[in-house]
Amino acid sequence: MTAKFPQPGELEAIETASRDEISALQLQRLKWSLQHAYDKVPFHKAAFDAKGVHPSDLKTLADLAKFPFMTKTALRDNYPFGLFAVPQNQVARLHASSGTTGKSIVVGYTHQDIDHWANLVARSIRAAGGRAGDMLHNAYGYGMFTGGLGAHYGAERLGCTVVPMSGGQTEKQVQQIIDFQPQIIMVTPSYSLVIAEEFERQGITPDQISLKIGIFGAEPWGEGMRTEIERKLGIDAIDIYGLTEVMGPGVACECIESKDGPVIWEDHFYPEIINPDTGEVVADGEDGELVFTSLTKEAFPVIRYRTRDLTRLLPPTSRAFRRMGKITGRSDDMLIVRGVNVFPTQIEEQILRDKRLSGNYQIQLSRDGHLDNVEVRCELQREAAQLSPADVALLAKELQHHIKTIIGISTQVRVLAPEAIPRTLTGKARRVIDERPKQL
Ligand code: ADP
Repeated sequence: MTAKFPQPGELEAIETASRDEISALQLQRLKWSLQHAYDKVPFHKAAFDAKGVHPSDLKTLADLAKFPFMTKTALRDNYPFGLFAVPQNQVARLHASSGTTGKSIVVGYTHQDIDHWANLVARSIRAAGGRAGDMLHNAYGYGMFTGGLGAHYGAERLGCTVVPMSGGQTEKQVQQIIDFQPQIIMVTPSYSLVIAEEFERQGITPDQISLKIGIFGAEPWGEGMRTEIERKLGIDAIDIYGLTEVMGPGVACECIESKDGPVIWEDHFYPEIINPDTGEVVADGEDGELVFTSLTKEAFPVIRYRTRDLTRLLPPTSRAFRRMGKITGRSDDMLIVRGVNVFPTQIEEQILRDKRLSGNYQIQLSRDGHLDNVEVRCELQREAAQLSPADVALLAKELQHHIKTIIGISTQVRVLAPEAIPRTLTGKARRVIDERPKQL
């Protein structure tokens, strides 16, 4: 494995540019993107016209706030190709969202879009500490999901040897890691734990695993989960963020030297944080909903796309671009339990405070009369399998107490045997089972 931290000359000039240079590039690209969307996509023209704005009204970056938002509904209503800005014969590839929330949506890429995407994923892998010549095991699902091919093209672009494994077949994943000795893995954080368990089952300890870096995304994961994955696989765990509507993985990625939240590749995506209730732009550092405007996308421009992901913008550290805080969750993931707003990741954080519990958990919601019942199911680590029933009961009681005092909801906690919770072998983990009757 070559150097993990960037050496002089390894970064692209824009990654270390001044704020003025970045803003100037953003303004120039934003003007192009607004005009492109307005000229080529009737939906955007109609939305701009309805709000009484024209691309020429953008004189400064702050003027973007005058332009209309785009939501996932627009993508669904214009399914499949209504929001494409180029004719089909210029679309090099289609992808679709994995449909975690509702009906799937379709996006397209020109050759240039794919080229930019590959560059940004290559930049992301380099930020994570990967270099040309490293071997990268890609366990993101291949297919319509953007994870597999997105990671693949970027890894090739950087000059890695790619193992296009895709998701599932855990034993085979582990066998190939043992046989081929890759240094890097790209996979969802939840599935990385399944792979780690298979290593444990085979009696292979973290220091015997060739992997040094894991690049994890596609679902929310907290700092407790990072520590857990790093410990179990003996790696540095890096957060990569992206979404189909905006591109796919590689919209933002953490740097290994600071591990302090994904750096947004602001030369291609303009971020804003808004108050989700009022739509007002909030200041950097304040929590809200992340909104993106694409700056270079040809086939599928997005203008002020409301991601529903909740986070905040943070000042630059390892690169010249701003960072985003770890995503707490999507606004659609937020559970309202007896009037209290709760994200699954908050419960995850409490579970992982106890080293005897694994990072696999499920939250089951049901309704008893008018009251919500929450059952938190978690499981013991393999090394804690022999805990006495009295210790398990105490552990459950402590967790229940932490959830009550810190998050503010009453739960029943069930601590199960190691690996008792069903694993998701491809794609994203299903953390919440909501059996409450739907409100009309
Ligand atoms: P779907 O919308 O069907 O889940 P995507 O695969 O496009 O399809 O998922 C993108 C979403 O996944 C993001 O909007 C975000 O909610 C989540 N996500 C992606 N990367 C991360 C990450 N690093 N941390 C937290 N959430 C993430």
